[in-house]
Amino acid sequence: MPTASGAKKRFWIIEDMSPFGKRRKTASSRKMLDEGMMLEGFRRFDLYEDCKDVACQFSLKVTHYHCTRENCGYKFCGRTHMYKHAQHHDRVDNLVLDDFKRFKASLSCHFADCPFSGTSTHFHCLRCRFRCTDSTKVTAHRKHHGKQDVISAAGFRQFSSSADCAVPDCKYKLKCSHFHCTHPGCRHTVVGMSQMDSHKLCLNMFGDTILD
Ligand SMILES: [Zn+2]
Ligand SMILES: [Zn+2]
Ligand SMILES: [Zn+2]
Ligand SMILES: [Zn+2]
Ligand SMILES: [Zn+2]
Ligand SMILES: [Zn+2]
Repeated sequence: MPTASGAKKRFWIIEDMSPFGKRRKTASSRKMLDEGMMLEGFRRFDLYEDCKDVACQFSLKVTHYHCTRENCGYKFCGRTHMYKHAQHHDRVDNLVLDDFKRFKASLSCHFADCPFSGTSTHFHCLRCRFRCTDSTKVTAHRKHHGKQDVISAAGFRQFSSSADCAVPDCKYKLKCSHFHCTHPGCRHTVVGMSQMDSHKLCLNMFGDTILD
């Protein structure tokens, strides 16, 4: 009988499950090439080493690891989990960037009227009151802000077909999505963003840019 059974080497293919569909080379995936080292954001406790965490089921029983990231609290045995968990944090970091915050299901987000607080893992937009549990909505919502930024930089404000623009005699009011120039006294209205370009004159007359 051959004695090679069990001696087969296993290779782990670690997939980057980036929600953006692109493969991102992250700091931790580069470090993974070195099997022997600890990844950033983890602490190792040897067998019989007291991790001093009363809630830890591995404490003083087995060599184990703690994730040291704020509000995480993930504890595990086995190095493979460390790589996977580091990737989880990389994915979340790439998703929330600096305009969203993610809250785990077990944590309160401290937003008084949030229906997800303490019940589901969810995200809060840091620029408005938007929140969601679906991570794909985070990117979509970020795009929405990007569009609003372009609109306000052009000197307009958008009104959806269900929003009352309160402009007297506006023929688009509560009928279709449209944009009003925000400069006082100007009644310029457009229905598409491409039409804003032709209204540059108003920006020059009323805006902060004073031409010679
Ligand atoms: Zn522990
Ligand atoms: Zn963690
Ligand atoms: Zn919340
Ligand atoms: Zn927002
Ligand atoms: Zn209107
Ligand atoms: Zn105008």
